[in-house]
Amino acid sequence: MKKISIIIPAHNEERNIPLIYDKLKEVSESFLGKYLFEIIFINDGSDDDTFVEIEKLARNDENLKYIDFSRNFGKETATSAGLNSCNGDACIMLDADLQHPVELIPNFIAKWEAGAEVVVGIRAQNKSDGFAKKIGSAIFYKIINKISEIEVVPNATDFRLLDRIVIDQFNKLTETNRMTRALIDWLGFRREYINFQANERIHGQASYDFWKLFKLAMNSFVSLSLFPLKLAGNLGLVIVFVSGISGLYILLGKYFFHTRFASTFSDSENLAILIVFLVGIILTSLGLIALYIANIHGEVINRPMYVVRKKKI
Ligand code: UDP
Ligand code: MG
Repeated sequence: MKKISIIIPAHNEERNIPLIYDKLKEVSESFLGKYLFEIIFINDGSDDDTFVEIEKLARNDENLKYIDFSRNFGKETATSAGLNSCNGDACIMLDADLQHPVELIPNFIAKWEAGAEVVVGIRAQNKSDGFAKKIGSAIFYKIINKISEIEVVPNATDFRLLDRIVIDQFNKLTETNRMTRALIDWLGFRREYINFQANERIHGQASYDFWKLFKLAMNSFVSLSLFPLKLAGNLGLVIVFVSGISGLYILLGKYFFHTRFASTFSDSENLAILIVFLVGIILTSLGLIALYIANIHGEVINRPMYVVRKKKI
């Protein structure tokens, strides 16, 4: 029988744990005799009784497993820990707060059985989301799709099913500063999408406020590309070019050709142009350094150079 691992990162979700567990049990019972289910809770340094609740359930359920973090490492790391330790033929990653509808699990499984290796939940925009969060996410997807070489689908969530081959490849990735979604997208494989409407959070508070999301976004810009540094370099080139030309024009005009226009520039204005020129050189050098860092960066994060779906040699 095929086995499906359900991976749930949880941070301060004491009241949601029993709820999501009951819902998952319903789903697994509806698949009785067809699939085996294991549930892996990752307690990500909760301050409340999340872990007490998990342990309570684990005592009566041999298919319930858990990983208890020593402190809060963040959802991305928690999810990775789950992926590292699950042993199903596929896994489904799910938020503990019931915002990812458990009822859709059969749809995910159906797409997987039909041949998809990654099934991604696409979330309709929530009405309750704040203005800042909406604008923020719109800008984020615009920028990230401009600067990174992989396509990041807007509103794609972490609500995903991964086939075993994808899990195994994912587990080979070594970067510690990670965004699970982006890495899965980078891996590729055959993808299918499922649209869903996120439920409202019933208990507790979202741990991801605007600033935490902003940090995550910044992180993914930096880890997915060197665009920000290269931008500085390009800006430097423009500045060097413009101030260089005008500086030269004034210099030659003033001392060699004695044109009227060039002579109207005072000494301090000339000095200003010189300073701007030097700043341009500094920025250009930064851009140059970015190219070197790009090389080092590529080596240090040690991503596999390519990913194989199947092998016969
Ligand atoms: N979570 C986690 N570690 C954290 C923050 C959140 O494991 O540091 C979990 C949380 O328990 C939930 C999921 O990640 O299961 C999504 O978190 P949240 O609901 O706060 O985010 P949002 O719904 O706003 O994306
Ligand atoms: Mg949530």
